[in-house]
Amino acid sequence: MIHYDLRCDEGHTFDGWFKGSAEFDRLAHAKLLTCPQCGGSKVDRAMMAPRIGKRGQSAPPPLREVPAAVTEAAKPAPTLAGPIPDGLRAMLAKLREAVEARCDYLGADFAEEARKIHEGSAPARGIYGEATPDDIESLLDEGIEVTPIPWVPRSDS
Ligand SMILES: [Zn+2]
Repeated sequence: MIHYDLRCDEGHTFDGWFKGSAEFDRLAHAKLLTCPQCGGSKVDRAMMAPRIGKRGQSAPPPLREVPAAVTEAAKPAPTLAGPIPDGLRAMLAKLREAVEARCDYLGADFAEEARKIHEGSAPARGIYGEATPDDIESLLDEGIEVTPIPWVPRSDS
């Protein structure tokens, strides 16, 4: 993730986090970056200015929450084989409960919604749902990082 200070053509400054300069260029070109003060989409990177001593400047906006099932970690996941030890199974059941409690279930629409979130046409949030290995491969090819979740039966069933 790269942090950029940004400025619109009205001179308002704000900032944002991007996966990289290419991602910034893509969003800026697609006019998906807008000034929070005037809504202008002519946004460019500002020269880095020291924040120290600047008074009255509003705090930077909170980091955009990274959806749980669409994460930045693109490393190959370690793979587990054999029977899952009991303690681990309980942890995975908790993971499932946490995902179910905090993320939106999209079912078979998962891949489509993950694309919309990536493009910015759907609100950024944690989503989960079913994806085939082909779906996962094409999402990863598009630069949308998804994480398969070890889905164990509910702990209360
Ligand atoms: Zn502005």
